[in-house]
Amino acid sequence: MVGATLACALQDSGMKIALIESTPPPELRPDDPVDLRVSAITRASQQIFTALGVWSGMTARRISPFREMHVWDAGGDGLIHFDAADLGEDALGHIIENRVVQRALWDRLQGEGGIELLCPAAVAELRYDDALTAVSLADGRVLHARLLVGADGAQSRVRQFAHIQAHGWSYDQQAVVATVATERSHDETAWQRFLPTGPLAFLPLHDGRSSIVWSTTPQQARQLLEADDAAFCQQLASAFDGRLGRIESSSERASFPLRLQYAPSYVKPGLALVGDAAHTVHPLAGQGVNLGILDAASLAEVLLDARAQDRDIAALKVLRRYERWRKGHNLMMMAAMDGFKRLFGADWEALRWARNTGLTLTNALPPVKHLIMSHAMGRSGDLPALARRVAL
Ligand SMILES: Cc1cc2nc3c(=O)[nH]c(=O)nc-3n(C[C@H](O)[C@H](O)[C@H](O)COP(=O)(O)OP(=O)(O)OC[C@H]3O[C@@H](n4cnc5c(N)ncnc54)[C@H](O)[C@@H]3O)c2cc1C
Repeated sequence: MVGATLACALQDSGMKIALIESTPPPELRPDDPVDLRVSAITRASQQIFTALGVWSGMTARRISPFREMHVWDAGGDGLIHFDAADLGEDALGHIIENRVVQRALWDRLQGEGGIELLCPAAVAELRYDDALTAVSLADGRVLHARLLVGADGAQSRVRQFAHIQAHGWSYDQQAVVATVATERSHDETAWQRFLPTGPLAFLPLHDGRSSIVWSTTPQQARQLLEADDAAFCQQLASAFDGRLGRIESSSERASFPLRLQYAPSYVKPGLALVGDAAHTVHPLAGQGVNLGILDAASLAEVLLDARAQDRDIAALKVLRRYERWRKGHNLMMMAAMDGFKRLFGADWEALRWARNTGLTLTNALPPVKHLIMSHAMGRSGDLPALARRVAL
């Protein structure tokens, strides 16, 4: 999602660009089952996609707005409620299957010239070759590039090649995902209950069902994956406090290990990292790919500015501007997600009281709530021009 966003943002730049991807995003028919991997896409990402002309490719497939959000703590009576209408907006964000995002970006890249799409293609070897990076593909082709961008996810080969050692830690949690039908309507609302073992989110889908992300201990995750549908639905309804009534059915389930990870530097001469290759965060506030999309839009802006000033796009001085721009914001978001995860995972009486009181107080203070909403919608901080260009 992040690499293709960057390619779209540079498509008309006149630069010679190749995008290497191992797996083409599958085309989607309207009656295809909802994919297990979905993302909450912020208003800032929506703005970027709109400016790039790809948002209509997502709405034409299937997306679901969420207009409200309810968050509450299983360890007390603290709760907070966000409503887009309080900010005069019609949605806080949208829930979109990852492959819908990928497919809409892919259509744009295939539609017009400018980008060479190498797919399916696997990177076999990377080496520096006289100020150029040589990328050898598994099928024997070799490409030479002034600038190599690693948008290759948390296990980034490009990051390893650059000898940038990622720091971080495992949360000792797995995120169990599934698509479920509930007795009561989701009301275009995102719901999240903080349990001592981790947060459980219900995200509204276009067909009335919900996509769930249940972050929990590896032991419980294993048990949830192995349980039969009836037992899983019962446990899920109980963990969710019956908020949407009975869980009437569940799709297959999958789980993903959760880690916090960050690269201490995002750039080297002739190389840059974006998205999960540079940082991964806990999914509890649905920020991961949105940070990556902001990386892509910011890097594109830095490269276009450099070109307009006849500067070398591979020079460290140019790339550092991108790193300075994005690293602070990403680290702040990462620290906030980590802090929430720890705060709600702690089971001390005093802390439980403090966080429940904090939630309830915040809920009663509109200016503070508006500030939080604005952060969560990606509207705060030093945004790239693509995130400011169009009014939604
Ligand atoms: C359970 C869960 C829920 C989440 N929910 C949200 C959410 O609601 N909102 C949100 O913003 N984020 C969410 N995230 C985080 C989000 O999924 C990631 O931040 C996002 O996928 C990162 O995108 P990316 O493009 O940087 O990397 P990836 O999605 O990892 O993509 C990397 C790409 O590189 C390709 N690739 C890798 N290596 C090679 C190679 N050697 N050769 C060729 N191609 C290669 C891969 O095929 C892939 O297409 C969630 C994560 C999890 C685990």
